[in-house]
Amino acid sequence: MAAPALPTTSAVSSGNSGSRSRTRVSGVRRRCQWLIYWVPVLFICSILSWSYYAYVAQLCLLTMTNIGEKVVCLIAYHLFFIMFLWSYWKTIFTLPMNPSKEFHLSYADKELLEREPRSEIHQEVLKRAAKDLPIYTRTMSGAIRYCDRCQLVKPDRCHHCSVCDKCILKMDHHCPWVNNCVGFSNYKFFLLFLAYSLLYCLFIVATDLQYFIKFWTNGLPDTQAKFHIMFLFFAAAMFSVSLSSLFGYHCWLVSKNKSTLEAFRAPVFRHGTDKNGFSLGFSKNLRQVFGDEKKYWLLPIFTSLGDGCSFPTCLVNQDLEQASTPAGHCAANKNENNPHFPAKPLRDSQSHLLTDTQSWTETNANIEKNKLGMSNPALTMENET
Ligand SMILES: [Zn+2]
Ligand SMILES: [Zn+2]
Repeated sequence: MAAPALPTTSAVSSGNSGSRSRTRVSGVRRRCQWLIYWVPVLFICSILSWSYYAYVAQLCLLTMTNIGEKVVCLIAYHLFFIMFLWSYWKTIFTLPMNPSKEFHLSYADKELLEREPRSEIHQEVLKRAAKDLPIYTRTMSGAIRYCDRCQLVKPDRCHHCSVCDKCILKMDHHCPWVNNCVGFSNYKFFLLFLAYSLLYCLFIVATDLQYFIKFWTNGLPDTQAKFHIMFLFFAAAMFSVSLSSLFGYHCWLVSKNKSTLEAFRAPVFRHGTDKNGFSLGFSKNLRQVFGDEKKYWLLPIFTSLGDGCSFPTCLVNQDLEQASTPAGHCAANKNENNPHFPAKPLRDSQSHLLTDTQSWTETNANIEKNKLGMSNPALTMENET
């Protein structure tokens, strides 16, 4: 057999320099991307810094004449400001959690998947890998949820974020305003960030209103402070409107124990799609995010329940196999609260449940929702089929 021709020295060196320049270009591109991703955060920080100067220096110190009003406004303002900054900081810098090592495929399984083109064999390997994992959700076609990029079996409510290029536990969405994925590790912080930023804006609107009216009735001295007072009111009112709708939406999601992704595309369980599959009732849903101890609810300190890999579901109590899992004991008996829950038997064997056969029914509404989820450009997760 003829030996393969060795590349000449010049070919090797030009190949090396080519790959070096490609690496340099991709390095520059990555750095540019990194800078661009921080632009929305810098924008919020600039607005926040200016609002601090406008409110504290121009409104409170230079315009307010009543000492009592000045002191009360400054104390209350700083309280909202600190809580806003604290929750914002925690949302930005809390690293999203990734699936633990039990969900990763073994080296041998990875090799097998790479070698084997047949999808039936892939499913066999994945079924075997998922056998002892607390996984109850499936893809739309009933297969085990698997991430090609991270080479792992996806835990329930976990999705691959195309911006972070990682699988994120209980992924809600990738938020450009915090340059981070909002998921299991920082969802409480994100909610508090929305709540405190809304309170901050509403407080500014309420205390700036009388000076804003004076601006239009020529009741303010003719200094630059009056322009700060006017723009401060406009900016705070504008942000209040957008924040209140976003905060209201997330309050609804928490009350239903849904993530933004699940609101667009209902999770598929072993027996079918169930948009309320993770809902345990209002009080328990609240505790899933905020924890059991009420004294920590308003502080950006991590108190969410669970490990992010498995979640109590309304299915669990009816399924003897699942009731023995760590998630099982948390499950509430929720049948009376959920009349739409599929009345399908829930004690079929695991092997039957993992088949590709579509053994469930989907309502037209769910199908419509799924289409919506897949076509929504705001969602950065992968599409599962
Ligand atoms: Zn992934
Ligand atoms: Zn992300």
